[in-house]
Amino acid sequence: ADFAILYDRVRPDEKMLFDALDAAGVAYDKVYVPQLKLTFEQTVPWKVALERCVSQSRGHAVTRALEGLGVRVVNPSHVIELCGDKLATNARLAAAGVPTPRTGVAFTAEAALELIEDFGYPVVIKPTVGSWGRLLSKINDRDAAEAVLEHKEVLGGPQHQIFYIQELIRKPERDIRAFVVGGETIGAIYRTSEHWVTNTARGAKASKCDVTPDIADLAVRAAQAVEGEIVAIDLLEDPARGLLVNEINHTMEFKNSVSTTGVDIPARIVAHALELLQY
Ligand code: ADP
Ligand code: ZN
Ligand code: MG
Repeated sequence: ADFAILYDRVRPDEKMLFDALDAAGVAYDKVYVPQLKLTFEQTVPWKVALERCVSQSRGHAVTRALEGLGVRVVNPSHVIELCGDKLATNARLAAAGVPTPRTGVAFTAEAALELIEDFGYPVVIKPTVGSWGRLLSKINDRDAAEAVLEHKEVLGGPQHQIFYIQELIRKPERDIRAFVVGGETIGAIYRTSEHWVTNTARGAKASKCDVTPDIADLAVRAAQAVEGEIVAIDLLEDPARGLLVNEINHTMEFKNSVSTTGVDIPARIVAHALELLQY
């Protein structure tokens, strides 16, 4: 088949994408990346591939390799590079003038502590690469800052020597996730939790969020800043500044969002990816 879906685990999301492809009546190959072997002498049958790996490093690597073999992958590798790294995302958003929480980076624990004290407590520290709300720290005072910084410095790998620091946004007990496909905001959900980390993987509840012109516009601008084709934008509502872009996810999960939004997200994803076959 000239269309492929690249995966390493069949989550409910991937199942929904397979169903959408079946419903579209197109031939496609399910490519299980952990068993895939590629060389640059070979040819592959695919013209377009939809990348859905749970492992970000694997998804990035297979995308790179297939692009070398002439395959058009969504999202392309440069998008994965920007979205997979929160610092890279921030750099692009800043350059594009897209509002974000105040964010800084330092490269030693000592400098990080100075930066935190400049920001003022509370601050948020997160790994630049990571998801599902893992390893996020809300730091309320200097004692906690010193503890987290020392743990990162002594116990963390090279990635944890990059200290990514943000102001804490006093959002309501929720954030907004907006889905952008092919330059259009197709739907949004609130993710509500009593915990300040509102990932659904951490127990937040999804509910429908009406796509206001503000949400639609900001989400599209954020997607454009990283050239994302199929992306989910996390937005935080700041009481004074309004909507801020927190992060952009390039292999988005949407299983909780289809019935919530009433939008057939997998069908929209598949339709966008299949459009690329025409070029
Ligand atoms: P991940 O990639 O793990 O989802 P995020 O940066 O999206 O990391 O953070 C996860 C959640 O933590 C967000 O959805 C939000 O609820 C909360 N959060 C993250 N950063 C901030 C912040 N600066 N201020 C307030 N809440 C935040
Ligand atoms: Zn994320
Ligand atoms: Mg997130």
